[in-house]
Amino acid sequence: MSLDPSPSESRSRSLLEIVRRSATYLGGHGVANPRLEAELLIGHCLNLSRLELYLQFDRPLQEVELSAIRPVLHRRAAGAPLAHISGRREFYGLDFEVGQSVLIPRPETELLVELALQAVAGPLPTRIADLGCGSGCLGIAIAHHRPGALVDLVDLSEDAATIARRNVAHHGLQDRVRVWVGNWAEPLSGRGPYDLIVSNPPYVTGSEWAELDPGVRGHEPRLALLGGEDGLMSYRQLLPQAARVLGPHGVVLLECDQRRISAVRGLARDAWPAASTGVHRDLSGRERVLEVRLE
Ligand code: GLN
Repeated sequence: MSLDPSPSESRSRSLLEIVRRSATYLGGHGVANPRLEAELLIGHCLNLSRLELYLQFDRPLQEVELSAIRPVLHRRAAGAPLAHISGRREFYGLDFEVGQSVLIPRPETELLVELALQAVAGPLPTRIADLGCGSGCLGIAIAHHRPGALVDLVDLSEDAATIARRNVAHHGLQDRVRVWVGNWAEPLSGRGPYDLIVSNPPYVTGSEWAELDPGVRGHEPRLALLGGEDGLMSYRQLLPQAARVLGPHGVVLLECDQRRISAVRGLARDAWPAASTGVHRDLSGRERVLEVRLE
């Protein structure tokens, strides 16, 4: 893509013209919201918020600025997610570092935070575990809104745990949120009982993997997405472990794919035969979160 002035033009292009050209370029490469992404990417390169960008639309861009923008647009056009280029993603109104080793937080997962905040609404201290935490977005968002909560985040990936630790520090929660490396609840044995356990485990099946958006399949970690051939492997592992550390009145909230949520419900009943279970729909009407209550 050319961001250079044509030979007949002596002036350099304004920021607005560059935004427009970039949007056209990204749109031509299949980016779904090209104008928005062009603004966010250019803002990232120039270290400007979107508002600051708007206020400078008439300003001509310097060559040094254009050379910062070009490679970033090319990366995005080649399929790299915006969040990997900026290294950040907003989730539940909070800013998180993300990277290649963690799932980019999805808006539909915010439902799980809302349900968690309802489950631990009182002022009493609560113990919470986030299993397979990735960036830590779930446990950190809950801890941010519940000052009485003590939260343990667990991930199998050292690299994910490193990002989660930086996110804990970024939100100033080091005194209440700890990050552990290990398989589901294994590092937490002896640390319970927990009042609430949350998880957004990998749940994509082998055949769905092939149909995933290439931007997801080519850039996000398989470890965070693939739940074995039938998409249930994570739940089979994590539920019996969670049962060992959940307290007597505990609540479990699990993100699921709607096609398998009843199978996950069956696995949860195996782990807690006396529990009541419920299913919650996300904003697009899909059954998304399974709730298990011991009462
Ligand atoms: N919802 C995610 C996706 O469709 C999958 C998340 C997961 O496996 N936990 O990309």
